[in-house]
Amino acid sequence: MLVLGIETTCDETAAAVVARGNDGSGRILSNIVHSQTAEHARFGGVVPEIAARAHVDLLDGIVARAMQEAGVGFAQLSAVAAAAGPGLIGGVIVGLTTAKAIAMVHDTPLVAVNHLEAHALTPRLTDALDFPYCLFLASGGHTQIVAVVGVGEYVRLGTTVDDAMGEAFDKVAKMLSLPYPGGPEVERSAAGGDPKRFAFPRPMLGRPDANFSLSGLKTAVRNEASRMMPLEPQDICDLCAGFQAAVLEATADRLSVGLRLFHERFGPPRALVAAGGVAANHAIRDALQDVAAKAGTTLIMPPPALCTDNGAMIAWAGAERMALGLIDTMDAPPRARWLLDATAAAPAGFAN
Ligand code: ATP
Ligand code: MG
Ligand code: FE
Repeated sequence: MLVLGIETTCDETAAAVVARGNDGSGRILSNIVHSQTAEHARFGGVVPEIAARAHVDLLDGIVARAMQEAGVGFAQLSAVAAAAGPGLIGGVIVGLTTAKAIAMVHDTPLVAVNHLEAHALTPRLTDALDFPYCLFLASGGHTQIVAVVGVGEYVRLGTTVDDAMGEAFDKVAKMLSLPYPGGPEVERSAAGGDPKRFAFPRPMLGRPDANFSLSGLKTAVRNEASRMMPLEPQDICDLCAGFQAAVLEATADRLSVGLRLFHERFGPPRALVAAGGVAANHAIRDALQDVAAKAGTTLIMPPPALCTDNGAMIAWAGAERMALGLIDTMDAPPRARWLLDATAAAPAGFAN
């Protein structure tokens, strides 16, 4: 089956066409992503109103390009899928409404996809991965450990109680006057710094649950930085290195607890899967490799372009739901908030 996927929940305007074989294999025919980084850079973060307007301006052209590059006509689509949340509501409305219009005009089934479900199912697009597996999702808006038990069966084992991990990277970058987006900048500076110069806290270390907390660490970096103003370049590198080292240690600890909880409830996971922009961080990738090895499982990381927000993951999640007959009606609502645990294997707007 061929599915068009549309993603507009944050600052990526994206559309893609994905093919799913009867054997469950996936193939990306096109995957067009416009990152609105330039539109938001001078504000140091995503401005929801600007993002929504940019989605309106860009989406039609990006859908057309995705269809053209795939060499597919609307009449050939088995479904059109859109991320119906969670996310910035203005953008979600733009993407979902566009998908509904295409579905109506071409008499094609609509699939309203949970953006987090799409991140969770992406490794099945790139690898022949069976359920159940353990997902570590760390992005600008989310930090979660999730048991992926089946399509529509997600159990959240841990989450951040305050800031998301990518958000913490971005805020640390901002307080050190590094350019936006901050994650990659902090990683670059950390490479030239001494991780031991500052003794930053390791939040939640040793706790029996698998939750994260990052705001205390962020505040510790802020306090240290303001104490030393003005900062020399080496100070910035050392602060980044100290912050990243604390994140790594906390991540390894929280994930090992998460994997233990997974094991108790679902048996051994088929893999540990990492997704979200933070998974692009090389030091974090190395730490995850260790965590997986210690837990006796393998680490799977979709290529970076599929870890960050994109249309192919929405199209693929749409195809996985479509294969189970899970289509939605034109009433499917856009949602600013939508817990992954509440994404039952039933059409949006009915089961939860
Ligand atoms: P959502 O949370 O809704 O999935 P998002 O757009 O914030 O959306 P992504 O595009 O997956 O999420 O990831 C962006 C985040 O990842 C940003 O916070 C960014 O700083 C962070 N990030 C990207 N590269 C790195 C890196 N090398 N090291 C640390 N963080 C990084
Ligand atoms: Mg983004
Ligand atoms: Fe995302």
